[in-house]
Amino acid sequence: MSDKDNDKGKDKPPTPEEMQETLKDLFSKIGGKEMSFSPFMQEMDKRMPDEDEPDEMIIEDTLESLDEFNLIPREVKAHLDRFVIRQDEAKKALSIAVCDHYNHAKNVRAMEESGDEDSMEYQKQNVIVVGPTGVGKTYLVKHIAEMIGVPFVKADATKFSETGYVGGDVDDLVRELVRKADGNVELAEYGIIYIDEVDKLASKGGGSFGKDVSGRGVQTTLLKLMEETEVPLSNPMDMKGQMMSMMAMERGAKPQKETINTRHILFIVSGAFSGLEKIISQRVQSTQIGFQVGERTEVLDSELFRNVETQDFIDFGFEAEFIGRLPVRVVCEKLEKNDFVNIMKFSEGSILRQYEREFEAYGIHARFEDSSIERVADLAEKENTGARALMTVLADMLREFKFELPGTSVSELKIDSDLIENKEAVLAKYREEGLKVNIEKVRDEVAIYVREFSSKHGVNMDFTEDAVLELADLSSIQGRSVLQICRTKFKDYQFGLKLIQGNNGRDHFEIGKEAIKDADKFLSDMVVRSYDVAKKDEESGEDAADSTSSNDEN
Ligand code: ADP
Repeated sequence: MSDKDNDKGKDKPPTPEEMQETLKDLFSKIGGKEMSFSPFMQEMDKRMPDEDEPDEMIIEDTLESLDEFNLIPREVKAHLDRFVIRQDEAKKALSIAVCDHYNHAKNVRAMEESGDEDSMEYQKQNVIVVGPTGVGKTYLVKHIAEMIGVPFVKADATKFSETGYVGGDVDDLVRELVRKADGNVELAEYGIIYIDEVDKLASKGGGSFGKDVSGRGVQTTLLKLMEETEVPLSNPMDMKGQMMSMMAMERGAKPQKETINTRHILFIVSGAFSGLEKIISQRVQSTQIGFQVGERTEVLDSELFRNVETQDFIDFGFEAEFIGRLPVRVVCEKLEKNDFVNIMKFSEGSILRQYEREFEAYGIHARFEDSSIERVADLAEKENTGARALMTVLADMLREFKFELPGTSVSELKIDSDLIENKEAVLAKYREEGLKVNIEKVRDEVAIYVREFSSKHGVNMDFTEDAVLELADLSSIQGRSVLQICRTKFKDYQFGLKLIQGNNGRDHFEIGKEAIKDADKFLSDMVVRSYDVAKKDEESGEDAADSTSSNDEN
């Protein structure tokens, strides 16, 4: 082997996976602490784009559109209205917050060119959304991020407190934004981070959340992110990530920024905050003579929430500094039966459209009648998990139909209240219908087969009506198509038919019911008959000749 060959081996660096394995081995040998090789971090390679990253153009376009941001709150709300039912106050507040945020971002980016950006005072419009589960909080934020074209990351605050890490994981959120932006740090710096279940970080949340110190610790860490901090692009505990950066640099990739600044990242946090309604109403009651609380202590609606003050969140168990960084506060209201009906009927992202598409993929046209929509809404309301319940109710309701009907001849499914109330009986009806093979379809398939056979072998098969009906029965019993059945049953028929053709010169052959029952016997009988006929013809030919000759003799 030449030195050159040796060098070649050296030129090829180990893959990140090989390197990770070697490092793991090394660490176990020296008894080192377990390093982090979390799945999230294994995505690191995606965050280290090659120079010829194909999405580069899209990202440039997105950054350009941020520079030209010109949406107004009303337009943002109109977009949200297409997907999200109700939640008008939340839609308005979020629309204003994002328009202000991205207008400011646009100005900052313009001023960066002149180096003047620090002269602009601005308090970031981070948002706190209060509301129960499944009412559209995530859905709103997701649609906003999509509309603006910025990366969006969602996480549960409980993840941070439960893992016991304080800091590390929270920074991962920011790094995840970079990954969502296909490695573009500049775009990630204008992304949206959405953290749900922040109420679980409260130290005494409405009396029911006996929270530990770590909840407060996470609040402090999040506070830093919400203000402004530089987050390292690779997790210092992630060896693979570190190696990837080194290797990318060695390959001559553009030097990446090593940190991401969180100043312009928009934070939206949310939670159910149960108990907050009592805190607000008690305070309001004691300060506002004549304020009617009544039943409202049970429901946190927009009207009560309008009175919320920072102190209420502090009483709930939040650090004043943390809550102070969330100046926009809105409520997403509990959804009721009628809202569920509207979600199913009018939301562009309606789950009913999803079901229709799923059935359509099996050639079944599913139709939701109003009577079923009403019943589904009723059942969903009882679940108490907001619009999420619609998925549960529909999945339970249609599971058997989705399992049994595909592959049968059912092509229409009417989903009405009868289907919900008498599921077994309706299913039995469809089962029966599924077995009934459509006779026209059978005729079509027979005709296709006849054409196929004729063009391949030059002989024509004529199926009798009885044979067609027999094929239909067989197809429904076996669950195979008529075409498939014919292709197997008559796969060697050309030999026999050609033999017969040689005997009697025919090119049309009648295929009767018996051929479907026992194809081989039918064919061999036909062959035998053709010999008999040929023989008779021969004999009668001879007789005729004899008589002629005798006549002649005569
Ligand atoms: P959460 O409030 O817990 O964040 P989500 O936004 O994740 O709830 O809602 C779950 C799903 O329910 C959404 O993906 C959406 O399909 C549907 N949904 C929830 N609320 C609404 C709403 N107000 N309008 C339309 N669909 C909704």
